[in-house]
Amino acid sequence: MSKPVIISGIQPTGNLHIGNYLGAVKKWVELQNSGKYDLYIFVADLHALTGNQTADNRRHQILVAAAELIAAGIDPKKTTLFIQSHIPEHAELAWIFNTVTPVAELYRMTQFKDKSVNQDKNINTGLLTYPVLQAADVLLYKATQVPVGLDQVQHLELTRDIARWFNNRYGEFFPEVKPLLTNVPKVMSLLEPTKKMSKSLGQGQVIEMADDPDTILKKLKKAITATEGGAKAPGAQNLLLLLEHFGGSNYQDFAKAEKAGTIQYGDLKQALAEAIADTFAAFRVRRQKLLDNETDELAAILKTGGAKARRAAEKTIAEVRTLVGLR
Ligand code: ADP
Repeated sequence: MSKPVIISGIQPTGNLHIGNYLGAVKKWVELQNSGKYDLYIFVADLHALTGNQTADNRRHQILVAAAELIAAGIDPKKTTLFIQSHIPEHAELAWIFNTVTPVAELYRMTQFKDKSVNQDKNINTGLLTYPVLQAADVLLYKATQVPVGLDQVQHLELTRDIARWFNNRYGEFFPEVKPLLTNVPKVMSLLEPTKKMSKSLGQGQVIEMADDPDTILKKLKKAITATEGGAKAPGAQNLLLLLEHFGGSNYQDFAKAEKAGTIQYGDLKQALAEAIADTFAAFRVRRQKLLDNETDELAAILKTGGAKARRAAEKTIAEVRTLVGLR
């Protein structure tokens, strides 16, 4: 029997950070290594077009994202790793889904509302129809499970709706997709610890997986730990959470000291910087090697992954074209 298909992707809008790692990539590697699934992972470059990146920066970050996924443990022998735009069927299926999706459903999406505030000079139609393209990403491969955090549940529900609207109109075809809700930590910004760590925040707020040990320590030294009014400091909690997840052997000691009010934040930051730098030591080397050699190894990997994804995508699209009467 074939294994259930799982798909997920990441936008090539900046180097991956430790929030992306703990919240997404690490989980994907675990799913991959469980051997239970047919896993597809892609670099969502079509989605990235909705943002404000320059063409040159985008071109570069697409390769960086692919290299970082591989360096982080996505094994192209086990997982179908590809670049979204290499498979034109994503855009074709998204167009067909646009025609069964009521526009009012898209205006309801909280991420659209948030992004419209964040980039108020560029509220393009792609921002609105983004979740339709996401539905196409998933259903093109007949995926039945998508690993998501809570923030993505609304989009996944829309994917289920779109499948239903399509099936009602053209006949039962797309499967029901379920969220694979992963219990992942939410990593907060270093300087504004009530905000989620995000590529869209400034450099000093984010620890990139590729940061060298000195940079990590420098950024952590500036991280906010204090708070006003005696409340639990969200910044300190965030650093403790990170130490726990990055396997700092001294986590218990720091957690106890924090409760007792005797914690030395300088020491915590030092221990955490080491734990993070150690976690990504091999990652940094592999990433650089792939990027130095980008025309050969990386291109070959992406070609193979793309060819495999394309076979699955072409099969689905051929059937969809027949169902909707395009042939
Ligand atoms: P960013 O906000 O940095 O642009 P994305 O929106 O591209 O990140 O998210 C890619 C994946 O990483 C998603 O699965 C998301 O849930 C996860 N992720 C992003 N930021 C964090 C964070 N701070 N903590 C935990 N997971 C995160």
